[in-house]
Amino acid sequence: MIRIAIANQKGGVGKTTTAINVATALAATGWKTLLVDLDPQGNASTGIGVYPADREFSSYDVLVDKRPLAECVVPSSIPGLDLLAATVDLSGAEVELVNADDRAHRLRAALRDDSGYDVCLIDCPPSLGLLTLNALTAADKLLVPLQCEFFALEGLSQLLTTVERVQQRFNPDLGIIGIVLTMFDRRNRLTDQVSDDVRSCLGPLIFETNIPRNVRLSEAPSHGVPALIYDHSCAGSRAYMALARELITRLPEARKAA
Ligand code: ADP
Ligand code: MG
Repeated sequence: MIRIAIANQKGGVGKTTTAINVATALAATGWKTLLVDLDPQGNASTGIGVYPADREFSSYDVLVDKRPLAECVVPSSIPGLDLLAATVDLSGAEVELVNADDRAHRLRAALRDDSGYDVCLIDCPPSLGLLTLNALTAADKLLVPLQCEFFALEGLSQLLTTVERVQQRFNPDLGIIGIVLTMFDRRNRLTDQVSDDVRSCLGPLIFETNIPRNVRLSEAPSHGVPALIYDHSCAGSRAYMALARELITRLPEARKAA
């Protein structure tokens, strides 16, 4: 199993939308996929139709009570895609774990390689706190959604500093699989300028595929289905399918055969 954390400490940059739609695209290509919702707001859970009443166990139970992963995941309505949901009590987890020696390693321990999944995507909350730290410690790869706006690069450098710290202290194998530009609006000059800056700064780290600003992507969650299912031919869905294909080409060879 390859574990991919989707993180950016800024809220509203497209982490959850990316997690849901890339997970759906990977499941559609036949990969057994697990989506882990690590945001107490539970948007990834709701976005694939797993509502609070259906969340008997969640990522909170896995992290705080060390309940086995297999007892906590639930199937989604999408074939091949399972979910470890988030509940609001996750917002207390950072405090509850503060004195635990293994507090940064709880998710890593839970996602050991015997789970039967080919790939696991971890949707992070908008902070660099203990939940995101657990995701980065558990992950093989980091995928960063970046919105093309004025302070994007500053936020990114803070995130990359955190990645270096995690590599030094908790997870030397953590790599960055790529940065995807989200809510891309070609008609907006600022978008163009930021995108040029980011590409000249970070070059090949940036995925070729940009995710356009697309209203269908924002409508889908209220229907409890990924955009890829809500409207598979809209520009946003097509972009996420292209992103998933590009992501697969960036994965180590051994994983592709899985
Ligand atoms: P995050 O998880 O980083 O907070 P979300 O994925 O929840 O970000 O996106 C924030 C909001 O923007 C949501 O309402 C979502 O539906 C919407 N959104 C995300 N990506 C796009 C896009 N490419 N085009 C239009 N709306 C988007
Ligand atoms: Mg989110």
